[in-house]
Amino acid sequence: MGKTKLKVRLLEHTPNPEKLVAMAARLCYSPAKIDDLAENVAENDQQAFVKKLLDMGHYSAVEHVSFTFGIEGVSRSLLAQITRHRIASFSVKSQRYVGETRELNAQGTFEYIIPETIAGLGPEAVAEFEEQMAQIQKWYDGWVAKLGGGRGAYEDARFVLPNAAETKIVVTMNARELRHFFTLRCCQRAQWEIRRLAEEMLQLAKAVAPVLFTDAGPECLTGPCPEGKLSCGQRTEVRKRYGIN
Ligand SMILES: Cc1cc2nc3c(=O)[nH]c(=O)nc-3n(C[C@H](O)[C@H](O)[C@H](O)COP(=O)(O)OP(=O)(O)OC[C@H]3O[C@@H](n4cnc5c(N)ncnc54)[C@H](O)[C@@H]3O)c2cc1C
Repeated sequence: MGKTKLKVRLLEHTPNPEKLVAMAARLCYSPAKIDDLAENVAENDQQAFVKKLLDMGHYSAVEHVSFTFGIEGVSRSLLAQITRHRIASFSVKSQRYVGETRELNAQGTFEYIIPETIAGLGPEAVAEFEEQMAQIQKWYDGWVAKLGGGRGAYEDARFVLPNAAETKIVVTMNARELRHFFTLRCCQRAQWEIRRLAEEMLQLAKAVAPVLFTDAGPECLTGPCPEGKLSCGQRTEVRKRYGIN
């Protein structure tokens, strides 16, 4: 069995993120010198300052702080989506250098993600999906052998691997990009896997910078639904889930 589950960790973040944002903002709105910026940005002031900045839409000050997440147990399908976010930095497990042969995987097949919809169809559907993954493993192993084995072979043998194949990602985003990412990907209309990831990332970011991310999440938390006719129609429920009436 090569099934795997989502795991997200906040690996690093800018220390005192809200203090730094408040310092950058203070530079904009006062004659303070660089050496004096940290003065008078006590915790209470910081929070009020950061909130005011966000309300004003003065987002450049928010770009000074960044958050780095380690992610595993996600599909290559998710990878295609998350890497569309251009204002982020990524490191991804390489399918050129890291082989997926049967011998290299303790569980006997490459790791993969089973969509909940398929799992929801019951054990027979899961067994069918697993058989398909096992078949792909055979095809992959066959091509690795035919192409001479090792790293030189992984590069092209990987062409038969599916979107379900698991990957690992380290991603860094600044807080402005992260807020934008949450707007798009926490939305009910986002695909389930990236939405689940975004929701976990939001919880982790909120734990260290509660004010910066207080209103972060799908766009319907702060305004009308942008999806028009494609709206999920669950604005009230979504807002309630985020603790907004
Ligand atoms: C529900 C959903 C469905 C989607 N469906 C599809 C689909 O069918 N096909 C598809 O190809 N993609 C699809 N996407 C991906 C989408 O089009 C974006 O590529 C992705 O969400 C990244 O968003 P972004 O460009 O705003 O973000 P980022 O790349 O993170 O950029 C952040 C912001 O920076 C600014 N920016 C960045 N680069 C530029 C630039 N070159 N020029 C001007 N401004 C820039 C923009 O304001 C942008 O919003 C979908 C996304 C979602 C959420």
